[in-house]
Amino acid sequence: AKAGGGQQSAFFDAAMGQVVSERFAVEQDLRRGLAAQELRLYLQPQVNRQGHMVSAEALVRWQHPDKGLVPPGTFIGVAEESDLITEVGDWVLAQVCAHLGQLHTQGRRLPIAVNVSPRQFHKADFVPGVLHALEQAGAQPEDLVLEITEGVVIEQVDTVVRKMSQLTQRGVRFSIDDFGTGYSSLAYLKRLPIHELKIDKSFVQDAPHDPSDAALVEAILSVAGHLRLKVVAEGVETQEQADFLNQRANVIHQGYLFGRPAPAAEVLATWSGTRSD
Ligand code: C2E
Ligand code: CA
Ligand code: CA
Ligand code: CA
Repeated sequence: AKAGGGQQSAFFDAAMGQVVSERFAVEQDLRRGLAAQELRLYLQPQVNRQGHMVSAEALVRWQHPDKGLVPPGTFIGVAEESDLITEVGDWVLAQVCAHLGQLHTQGRRLPIAVNVSPRQFHKADFVPGVLHALEQAGAQPEDLVLEITEGVVIEQVDTVVRKMSQLTQRGVRFSIDDFGTGYSSLAYLKRLPIHELKIDKSFVQDAPHDPSDAALVEAILSVAGHLRLKVVAEGVETQEQADFLNQRANVIHQGYLFGRPAPAAEVLATWSGTRSD
């Protein structure tokens, strides 16, 4: 029994070792990629009922020399385990602020949402970092939306509220991403200075056919209505899904039906709008 156990644990150690070394390899490669300027800023349109782009979400991509265009799902998690997420986050924020500053000088306005990871938010210098990035680029705080998940809010609620307030006082807005998929209670909604909820695509996509998802979406719309929060629906792929939402509330749509994420410069070049709200 002893020998068997030893074998098992040797096997386990080897498997674990492989996972750890793969993560380490990705981390090293990402470090290199960051230095080699391989990250790319993509934007996905957020459209109103009339189909006009009124804002956009920034989504990072990694243009890898061997692997091609790498989606964030494969490297954000690894970055989040280390301090690398701060570097990725700083890069995305600087890029977005540069675009916002440029739009501002052109007299055009398109609020852009940036994903903020829990580790990034909880860093001591997060608030001054955001304000510095805005200032540096001549961007208006009102044009920046920060998307946080319920995971950010789980601990240190007082600190979270304080940090958020420091930014909202300057005009920056907050959105709760993947709303409804986390484990936190609804009570925190009342305490946090947020202006928007994003309904997770898992609910949006099944709502027209699954009564449970429909009920969840309706509950979210109801809460948002009462708290006067804006709602963005993620992952709208079909007209049926868009109709389901439009029949129930005034919702901003984000999804393949209206536009896939594309290089930021491309999205902004094809956009002719000057106003939004
Ligand atoms: P997320 O914040 O929930 O972003 C929405 C994801 O849904 C994006 O995936 C987007 O491309 C995808 N999506 C949009 N419309 C549709 C649709 O109609 N159908 C389907 N099936 N998917 C749609 P993406 O770009 O692969 O990003 C995945 C996740 O990576 C994001 O999820 C976000 O959590 C994270 N991420 C992306 N960029 C950043 C970043 O700059 N910083 C941080 N911290 N995380 C990021
Ligand atoms: Ca997001
Ligand atoms: Ca999501
Ligand atoms: Ca997410």
